[in-house]
Amino acid sequence: MELVSTPFAGLQTRFGASGRVYRAPGRVNLIGEHTDYNDGYVLPAAINLACGVAIAARNDRILHIQSANMPGDVHVHLDRLPAVRTGHWSDYVIGIASALEQAGFKLPGASLYIQSEVPLGSGLSSSAALETSVAYALLDAAGYPIDLRKLALLCQRVENEYVGARCGIMDPFIACHGKGGHALLLDCRSLDFRLLRVPPQARLVICNTMVKHELASSQYNLRRAECEEAVRLLATKLPCVRSLRDVSKRDLEDQRSLLTATLYKRACHVVEENDRVLGAESALKAGNLTGFGELMAQSHLSLKDNYEVSCRELDLMVEIANRTRGVYGARMTGGGFGGCTVNLVRAETAADFAHQVGEAYYGATGRHPDVYICEIAEGVGPVS
Ligand code: ADP
Ligand code: MG
Repeated sequence: MELVSTPFAGLQTRFGASGRVYRAPGRVNLIGEHTDYNDGYVLPAAINLACGVAIAARNDRILHIQSANMPGDVHVHLDRLPAVRTGHWSDYVIGIASALEQAGFKLPGASLYIQSEVPLGSGLSSSAALETSVAYALLDAAGYPIDLRKLALLCQRVENEYVGARCGIMDPFIACHGKGGHALLLDCRSLDFRLLRVPPQARLVICNTMVKHELASSQYNLRRAECEEAVRLLATKLPCVRSLRDVSKRDLEDQRSLLTATLYKRACHVVEENDRVLGAESALKAGNLTGFGELMAQSHLSLKDNYEVSCRELDLMVEIANRTRGVYGARMTGGGFGGCTVNLVRAETAADFAHQVGEAYYGATGRHPDVYICEIAEGVGPVS
């Protein structure tokens, strides 16, 4: 059940002495859900499941791209990179190469071999791990200095515009700036961030419900539209409000009559969730893991009742966790309607916790959940 990080041994030998290897981590968000697109706060941590990439220079201007995780290797000429996506997974890599060239980095031809431990499409951000590891590899192997903030922004742009997938700044940002043993509080408006040490007596356990409901995409778009509508209405009385980030709980209560019952609930979630992230920062700084866990529990309830993005399986996984020994706090993480929960657990009970939650969830649903006991890992960089 516990996934031990492999050191990418296959990648080290892939291209012999001329090859170099880089890695970038997946991530989990501890608290601050659906706040990113409202210019708010998030608190992710990089995890010890990573995407690795081996790179070797070539004498021509070809990029040869292969992945151990997905079929179909691809050859593209750097002077004739396709301007639009093809729908193949290599879009992520080609999009990065293309954006780097457009930003003025002249890239040499290279062979790239990718191998990821981050489960694909499970909400642990395999896509940002892929993009950031590839971008870092292409730049570093060509001898360019790397600005991690610019790298994260470039990766987000590629995923939004070239791949055509929605992705906030959180995923590439934590893949770039993650630090071992630390969570990262990110202000999604200014991109200021603070690293917060997570005490060693706590472990992160991620439980995958193994379901993904169809509604996820349409409801996500609807929630974004609802937040925009709430901002528009609130700004009629509060002209300084540009996003829900600018609304205090007090303002929201004073202006409640401007909103429908549904819009009020959505705004409540975002406004209170931002406060919870800042509360979680204080709790971590004080070493108050119980307080941190309580905020996680409140976050889950708010996502369930006010934001209405949870589902039966996520609620069940959280309920099971809440009655299992050693838990500080449990909540759904990610967009909702399936995917994973994140649990803050006493380190010495983590293995038992993972086992018991897995068994109870299987007993209730007939599905075996994937459960990961994680270390908090470093952001993107070379594999020594
Ligand atoms: P998540 O980021 O939550 O894992 P996404 O849907 O955003 O889910 O990204 C998953 C997609 O990213 C995959 O379907 C694939 O196209 C691409 N991808 C991620 N990792 C790899 C990899 N190691 N090899 C090839 N493609 C990958
Ligand atoms: Mg992704």
